[in-house]
Amino acid sequence: MTRRLEGTVALITGASSGIGHATASELAREGASVALVGRRKDRLADLAAEITNAGGRALVVPADITDAHAAAEAVERTVEELGRLDTLVNNAGLMLLGPAPGADVNDWRRMIDVNLMGLMYTTHAAVPHLLRAAAEQPRQVADIVNIGSLAGRIAFGMSAVYCATKFGVGAFSEALRQELARQHVRVSVVEPGSVDTELRTHNPAAVQQQLDAHFGDIERLQSQDIADALSYIVTRPRHVAIAELLVRPTEQV
Ligand code: NDP
Repeated sequence: MTRRLEGTVALITGASSGIGHATASELAREGASVALVGRRKDRLADLAAEITNAGGRALVVPADITDAHAAAEAVERTVEELGRLDTLVNNAGLMLLGPAPGADVNDWRRMIDVNLMGLMYTTHAAVPHLLRAAAEQPRQVADIVNIGSLAGRIAFGMSAVYCATKFGVGAFSEALRQELARQHVRVSVVEPGSVDTELRTHNPAAVQQQLDAHFGDIERLQSQDIADALSYIVTRPRHVAIAELLVRPTEQV
């Protein structure tokens, strides 16, 4: 198989589980050197070992991206140790559900800090390096892929602030896309429907039961399904930008 990302470097936030984990493996299979960002260092180290054993190159970069300084340092370390940055995958996220009236506002702040501020801090630090990569070989194009959500297209009850953050991801992405398009830094949003990951487990058991009841026995997406979508986006030729990709489980209405 031709490895379409040979010679490039990708940074993936939230690489310690779920979609980020699958995406890092997929981009490494395509030949990218990958920087694995997240707080759970042991999980990142396990993934790095898997990638290295399969012949790839991975760097463990433990960081809490809600800290602007830590997010910037993660980007700088990636460039120092892997040499460049071609692809930024802003995937780290948190989904805390429940009715807005009476909610703990700290939960709101935590979601905004990760889903929006963390994404923006990481992007802010990465853009100069992405602009440089987009002006250079091997691809003369660079990518920012932001993981939004179906909840960034349609707002649902019980998830007002999660939806607000994901609508925000869509707005930020589109504005940035316009700003960077002429310099060949593409900005894309992937909007998954329900994916079988740890995301829901940060909620109390009662909320998880409500989610189970809502989705019933439909076959959910797997993280690899989103990694495939993301791989498609970043391997398009230089003149093709997939700005938005909504991926639902077939049975999700
Ligand atoms: P997971 O809970 O498996 O992954 C979330 C990742 O985010 C973890 O790797 C976690 O790593 C990381 N993360 C959380 N907080 C921070 C932080 N402060 N700093 C750095 N990393 C952080 O869930 P998913 O894989 O499902 O979620 C990935 C993305 O997909 C999220 O943005 C989510 O909103 C989005 N999404 C998911 C859907 C689903 O149904 N699962 C549907 C639509 C969108 P660590 O704890 O090690 O820091």
